[in-house]
Amino acid sequence: NPGLYIVATPIGNLGDLTPRAADTLCRAALIAAEDTRVTAKLLRHIGSTRPMTPYHDHNADAVRPRLIARMRGEAVALVSDAGTPLISDPGYKLVRDARAAGIAVTTLPGPCAAIAAMTLAGLPTDRFLFAGFLPSKQGARATAIEELKSLRATLVFYESGPRLGTSLAALGEILGPRPAAVAREISKKFEEVVDGDLPTLAARYADGGPKGEIVVIVGPPGEEAMATADDLDAALAKAMAAAP
Ligand code: SAM
Repeated sequence: NPGLYIVATPIGNLGDLTPRAADTLCRAALIAAEDTRVTAKLLRHIGSTRPMTPYHDHNADAVRPRLIARMRGEAVALVSDAGTPLISDPGYKLVRDARAAGIAVTTLPGPCAAIAAMTLAGLPTDRFLFAGFLPSKQGARATAIEELKSLRATLVFYESGPRLGTSLAALGEILGPRPAAVAREISKKFEEVVDGDLPTLAARYADGGPKGEIVVIVGPPGEEAMATADDLDAALAKAMAAAP
C-alpha cells in the first residue's frame, strides 16, 4: 500500500531484522536511507534489489517534498544506518510532513540501542529520559546535565568511545555518585556492560574510551535527595505513630 514505512533495522546483529521489516524492504518502491552504502549491505543480506535514495541531515530539506510526492502513490520506506529511524537519526520532519499531507504512516518496530541498553543495565526503567548525545563543548554539556539533575528518572545517553571519559567525568561532577552503566557493542561480538557509580566509571575511562558504540545509563537520584514535603510528613507521621 502507498505511504511511509518507518523501518527499524539491526544495531549489530543481522538476525534482529524482523520478518516484517525484511518483507517491506523487499517490496517498497523506494527506500530512503541515511547512508545508502550501509543500507546496501543490509539489502544484499535479504536479497532486496529495491532502489534507494539518500535521506540525511544535509539533503533532507531538499529531498523531502519529492519523497512526500512519491508516497501518494507508492510505498516509501525510511531506514537509518542502524536501529530505529528518528531516534537520534533523521526522519521526524518526514513523518510530520507525511502526516500533514494525509499520507498513511506505518511503523515497523525493532531494535533501538537506548531501549536495548536499558534492558541490560539493571537500573530502574519505570521512568526514563532519553537524552541523546550530550553536546561536545564543555559549557553546553554542563548546562545540559544541570537541566537533567533534578529529574527523578533514569537518564539514557548515546556516546562514542573517544568522548566517553569526558562525558562520564562531567556527569559524575554534576550528578554525584549515582549508579550507572556503560553498555557497549550491544548484540555484537564484543558486547559488554560495565556498571559502577559515576565517579568510578569516569576514573575507569579517564584515559580514553573503548572502541565501538556506547550507551550510558544513569540511575535516578536517591530517594532521600528527592523526598518531597509530603513524603517527609508521611514518614514523620509513621515514626510518631510507632513511638512508645
Ligand atoms: N537510531 C539508532 C537507535 O535506534 O539506536 C541510534 C542512532 S545514533 C546516530 C548512534 C548511536 O547509537 C551510537 O553512537 C551509540 O551511542 C548507539 N548505538 C548504536 N548501536 C549500538 C550498539 N550496538 N551498542 C551500543 N550502542 C549503540
